[in-house]
Amino acid sequence: MSDTDSLSLASLSDSWDREHLWHPYTSAIDPLPTYKVVATHDNRIVLADGTELIDGMSSWWAAIHGYNHLEINAAAKEQIDIMSHIMFGGLTHEPAIRLGKLLLEMAPPSMHNIFYADSGSVAVEVAMKMAIQAAISRSGSHAKTNFATIRSGYHGDTWNAMSVCDPVTGMHGAFGSALPVRYFVPQPASRYNGEWHPEDIKPLRELLQHKSEEIAAVILEPIVQGAGGMWFYHPQYLRETRKLCDEFGVYLIFDEIATGFWRTGKAFAWEHAGVEPDIMCVGKGLTAGYLTLSAVLTTEEIARTISNGEAGVLMHGPTFMANPLACAIACASLELLKKQPMPQILRNMESRLQEGLAPAKELTEDVSDVRVLGSIGVIEVKQPVDVGRFQKECVRRKVWIRPFGRNIYVMPPYITPDEDLTRLTHEMIEIIRSGKWK
Ligand code: PMP
Repeated sequence: MSDTDSLSLASLSDSWDREHLWHPYTSAIDPLPTYKVVATHDNRIVLADGTELIDGMSSWWAAIHGYNHLEINAAAKEQIDIMSHIMFGGLTHEPAIRLGKLLLEMAPPSMHNIFYADSGSVAVEVAMKMAIQAAISRSGSHAKTNFATIRSGYHGDTWNAMSVCDPVTGMHGAFGSALPVRYFVPQPASRYNGEWHPEDIKPLRELLQHKSEEIAAVILEPIVQGAGGMWFYHPQYLRETRKLCDEFGVYLIFDEIATGFWRTGKAFAWEHAGVEPDIMCVGKGLTAGYLTLSAVLTTEEIARTISNGEAGVLMHGPTFMANPLACAIACASLELLKKQPMPQILRNMESRLQEGLAPAKELTEDVSDVRVLGSIGVIEVKQPVDVGRFQKECVRRKVWIRPFGRNIYVMPPYITPDEDLTRLTHEMIEIIRSGKWK
């Protein structure tokens, strides 16, 4: 029996979908299998044939409270009857104001001004535009328009976000000279919870020594590099970067789109290092996976610098800016985070994942590294995973995990019961043992 035969055909997507719908990073002529979802609840995904999968992905970091959460549903229903959307130009509304206040309560203390955007990638675009406008206004130099970052990063799929993704694993190859050319330095080799190697910061120092006149900002995913390789690096790198940015008059952007809202065990990942960015992007978990919304937070100094600059305004203003429905949902999600013992919940998830993934370290033939931080658990394998084959095996075992490259990882919803965390880690290891991923 083949891997596919063992799955009910009803759970596989229909031929119309295969023929017409593009799925993320997927061939239109030879797509990987997709499974049809008919409902979701708690930490479960229900397929068309009734199979219930334990969710290991939180819909790509977003569904932090699980699915169909009663309180968030209620907030959405209440808001939809009041007002789904209204333009933000010249108008404002309570959900946007409430969300802003909740965000500033959680954010680094120096954050003061908020720009609502549509998605993570757009937040990165806005953050980069903010940095350029502020850098030009502060320095009086129109040369300060470039960016520096570290290798193996991921910041999104729009034009400028792509330009600061890793040039090899990102999409630079596909778009070639159409992409703006950024400055890249090696990713820090010092791992989180490991020893700090001071030489890690040298390339950035050298770069800023020579190129700071051209550079508006350094952009980083703090502590956890997500889709560029799931690498967890040493907090000292952020402290050193902050010092260098101050020394060379360059802004620091933290992309907390994946790391935000407790994913790494802290409300935001900057707290691991205790250094604040000048600009910060949040998204994904902001709306608990209900709707697309992101926010860019910055300091009063940057907001003023931009407003005193040539344009006098921040040059961005999307149609769906501060969508009231999305803001009301985000408020309900942040209220839930506020009233729950998040540090304890995350500590428990971290120890369950650590315990559950520990046996993977013995699979030395296939596994090169195992790492856990907060509610993120990663097994790095020695060769690229055959995603289609791996996922068939997941569905057969009633779990949902979507690997990329050489990383098999989970970041489950925070409401995941302990026994389901154990199931997820157990199945990750069993699939590796079975060899049905190569
Ligand atoms: N930055 C980071 C760190 C991300 O992980 C992602 C999404 N994977 C993005 C930006 C882009 O967000 P979106 O997919 O919502 O555009």
